[in-house]
Formats: sequence, structure tokens, C-alpha cells
Amino acid sequence: MTNKFYDRLAGKIAVVTGASGGIGRAVAVSFAKEGAKVVATARSNTAGLKETQSLAPRGSIEVKQANVTVAAEVESLIAFAEERFGRLDILVNNAGVIRVGQIPDTSEADWDEIMLTNLKGTFLGLKYGIPAMKRAGGGSIINVSSIAGVVGQATLAAYSASKGGISMLTKATAMDHVRDKIRINALCPGLIETPMTQPYIEHAGSKDALLEMMGSWMHPMGMGNVDQIAAGALFLASDEASYVTGSLMIIDGGYTAQ
Ligand code: NDP
Repeated sequence: MTNKFYDRLAGKIAVVTGASGGIGRAVAVSFAKEGAKVVATARSNTAGLKETQSLAPRGSIEVKQANVTVAAEVESLIAFAEERFGRLDILVNNAGVIRVGQIPDTSEADWDEIMLTNLKGTFLGLKYGIPAMKRAGGGSIINVSSIAGVVGQATLAAYSASKGGISMLTKATAMDHVRDKIRINALCPGLIETPMTQPYIEHAGSKDALLEMMGSWMHPMGMGNVDQIAAGALFLASDEASYVTGSLMIIDGGYTAQ
């Protein structure tokens, strides 16, 4: 992770879900390094949350466990940020899970878990985050969708359905809350090296072997890294994006360009 200190988010209060590793950790740490106070949250990996906290300037990250599929836990997560820091300016709905398989091979339990975590989790973040931002006089919400929320991807139908839902939830809620001064955008990462993709790298034998299996031409710039996604989140969270709402920011090394 880069180690630059600026103050593009000075004085802002942020909540980042799924921050025990991967993209969420990079986003939480980059926000903290830019001057935000951050509540980093995940479902169960408290050791991962502590590690995230240790990578940020001292006192800039609070950790709190919350399962994004449970309304009461999301509600208390947002309340925690408001009680601890006084308000909520930025919310990153990043927590997510993936399952690979064509629909006939997808169990009902896997479908439910994907929809609950990715789509309902984002819904609950919006449901409790928007009123908090109204109380703060505005804010920025970033939903983490995917290239799978923009184009169809083989063997990822259930995941794609959840991410397509997030993309549309983003656009529709952005329209609803312009007057509340709440900007709502989605990030659509391509293939990024994280704990989520690690098992697939291991299964293939290496990153290059995984890209080869998926069709190397499909990823013109290879795999991306978490800092490249955090950079997009930082822009969308900051006042530099003051005229950006309802957008899908694709950061995919050219995947969807062909
Ligand atoms: P990781 O698997 O590395 O991290 C997922 C995070 O989500 C963890 O912190 C995990 O917490 C949390 N989480 C999972 N389920 C829940 C839940 N029910 N409640 C609260 N937290 C939960 O994933 P990535 O960093 O790779 O992915 C982050 C986001 O980016 C996801 O939405 C993913 O779909 C999306 N994405 C990822 C891409 C990639 O190639 N990696 C590409 C495109 C999009 P815990 O550890 O406690 O379980």
C-alpha cells in the first residue's frame, strides 16, 4: 500500500464495510491517510480489522463488527459512527462474497448468500446511511459493484445478478437523493488480487495461469491491485467528485472496453 499523507478527506467521517482485508482495507487505510476518521467493519474477521487499523495513522480508524445482512447490525453500525464521531459523511458498501458456477449448478443456499450479502447488504447500508447523511447535510456513498455488474461474465450468473442489482440501486438512489446533497456512485473493479481471488490463483497455479485460463486477451492489463481501486474510491468520496453522481466508475484495465 502507498504511504502518502495528504488531506483530501480532512475532517470527514467514513464507514467502510468489508474492511478486514482486500479492497475494503485499502479503501479504509487510504481514507484515514487522507485525514478521515474511519469506522472499519467486517462480519467476523476481527484480527483482519485490527491489522487494517494498524496500517493507518494512530487514532484514525475505529473497528466494529457488523454483519451487513442483518438490519439491526447495520443500523447500529451507522449509529456507532454518529455517536463516536458526530456524523456520517462517507459510506462505502464494499462487503461482498462470490460463488462460481452456472445457474443449474448454483445451490439455493449459494444464491441466497450472494443476494443477501451483496444486494441486501448494500440496500441496508443505503437504508441507514442515507438518513444519517441527511442529518449531516449531505455526503458520498460508494457501492462496490463489479465489471460483473456491467457485462455478463461466464460462470458468474448469480454474482453478476447481485452486482447488476447494485449498479441499478446506485443509479436509482442517486436520482432520489440529489436534493439531499448525497452523491451515490458505484465502483466497478476488474480482476483484483485479494483474499477473494486468492483461491482461484492457487487453483490455477499462478496469476498468469489464472489469466490464461480466463482468456488472457480479456484482461489487457492483467490483474489489478487494491490501491488502484482505493484511488477511485478516494476520488468519489472527495469533493473533487462534487459533480459526479449515479455513475459507474469502471477500473478494470480495459476488460469492458472490448
Ligand atoms: P475479500 O473477500 O477480500 O473481502 C470481503 C470482505 O467482505 C471481508 O472484509 C469480509 O469480512 C466482508 N464480508 C463478507 N460477508 C460479509 C457480511 N455478511 N457482513 C459484513 N462483512 C462481510 O473481497 P475483495 O476485497 O476482493 O472484494 C471486496 C468487494 O469488491 C466485494 O464486494 C467484491 O464483490 C468486489 N469486487 C472484487 C473484485 C476482485 O477481483 N477481488 C472484482 C470486482 C468486485 P470477513 O472477513 O469478516 O468475512
